[in-house]
Amino acid sequence: MAAGNTVTLEREAELLASVPTGLLINGQWREASDGGTFDVNDPATGDVLSTLASATSQDAVAALDAADAAQAAWARSAPRERSEILRRAFDLVTERAEDFALLMTLEMGKPLAEARGEVAYGAEFLRWFAEETVRDYGRYLTSPEGKNKILVQHKPVGPCLLITPWNFPLAMATRKVAPAVAASCTMVLKPAKLTPLTAQLFAQTMLDAGLPAGVLNVVASASASGISGPLLADPRLRKVSFTGSTPVGKRLMADAAQNVLRTSMDLGGNAPFIVFEDADLDKAVQGAMAAKMRNMGEACTAANRFLVQASVAQEFTAKLAAAMGALTTGRGTAPDSTVGPLIDARARDEVHALVSAAVDAGAVAVTGGAPVDGPGYFYPPTVLANVPNNAEILRTEIFGPVAPITTFSTEEQAIALANASEYGLASYLYTSDYARMFRVAEQIEFGMVGFNAGVISNAAAPFGGVKQSGLGREGGAEGIAEYTTTQYIGIADPHASQGS
Ligand code: NAD
Repeated sequence: MAAGNTVTLEREAELLASVPTGLLINGQWREASDGGTFDVNDPATGDVLSTLASATSQDAVAALDAADAAQAAWARSAPRERSEILRRAFDLVTERAEDFALLMTLEMGKPLAEARGEVAYGAEFLRWFAEETVRDYGRYLTSPEGKNKILVQHKPVGPCLLITPWNFPLAMATRKVAPAVAASCTMVLKPAKLTPLTAQLFAQTMLDAGLPAGVLNVVASASASGISGPLLADPRLRKVSFTGSTPVGKRLMADAAQNVLRTSMDLGGNAPFIVFEDADLDKAVQGAMAAKMRNMGEACTAANRFLVQASVAQEFTAKLAAAMGALTTGRGTAPDSTVGPLIDARARDEVHALVSAAVDAGAVAVTGGAPVDGPGYFYPPTVLANVPNNAEILRTEIFGPVAPITTFSTEEQAIALANASEYGLASYLYTSDYARMFRVAEQIEFGMVGFNAGVISNAAAPFGGVKQSGLGREGGAEGIAEYTTTQYIGIADPHASQGS
């Protein structure tokens, strides 16, 4: 289908019918061991889109059996072979971009234009790691006293459990699967039960690209802990890479400690969006729209607290409210939709509870603020002014299209407010002063800083947080290191006199 065409119900049905509904174990799609299933719904209507096999603990162990059996041969595969599988997967995802985009819109709700953006972003991890696969360098040097040679090489960590969230159904999978393939790890992938269809189609695409049986196994399930529990306790598993909420991440880290597993944790955020009076306000509003409204605000990188210098707060608020108020809410397949539904009724109700509490505490809804009637879980783009500094909405990950604005007077105050959070993932900074950019970046406790930029995710950049936002980095040169372990070989130098 060409980009921009109206999506027909026949087209939706045809696409949904092409998505595998089973569990992928050792290269075969199969039923759950107990025949169990779960439904996947369209958040714009509440309708059932598809019914998938729901993996049991026994299926999870069967998936690990396959990953473990495939690991030794996969570790010996040539880097060029893995690189070309990833490159073919990039080409196939790009060829099937319209299918992936529509599938994400149907199961997750984001407007088609945004879903297309996620396909491009998600596919980029496949291309980036195709290139990194053949450039994972070790090193060789003479020890300082001259008695030994030091050889350092990278080996795959081993079988990995990859757990992904519902908000970026393709990119969160490619961001883990691509570096794991690059490092020659085998995998058990558990996608979120709210949006597993994209991962199912992606896994089939990896097989089509030539990935050997058993390297990637996929176990969607209605019971997340029924999958993670037995796998984290199994000594054959060597790593868990998780993207999701901080409370679940903490639980998984505690379980992972029993076998001293490697962990990568991409957890929640509470991004400050700081606007100084010397910023270009129109560009700041443009950046704010991207940082706030991407994915309807359902992103760990979403601007969660707008900290605006008092002298420009009124102007910034008016401009942001005008831009937010001009958006069109609707099912993501509708050509004019710029804001899709939230993921479910609970998410919508939690967003509204935060807005109501802020208004009760003295905030003013400049636009939005009232729930939308009708089918689907829509919430209107909302701007809150005069939000008190102790409001719950400034401490909680909103995960919705709501921009709370609060003010500051000095740079020191802005930095202190930004750092007053247990999270430290993304942050945004608008100023025309480069010296200030360096000063603030130096003092701000965040893994990522967008400087006059509202979108910072990029396959070539190390994505990740500090504090309770997580451990490890995805993407960039760092991404592959999450899936390798370092082995050092001390080699006696035959020409040196031998000692200890
Ligand atoms: P979630 O923690 O509820 O779920 C994430 C994944 O963990 C899902 O696959 C879910 O099925 C699984 N899960 C849930 N409970 C589990 C358990 N007890 N044991 C094992 N697995 C379990 O998060 P979510 O609602 O899917 O996603 C939203 C959260 O993800 C937000 O907090 C957001 O900030 C975070 N997120 C972080 C990043 C990042 O890169 N830092 C990216 C996207 C989302």
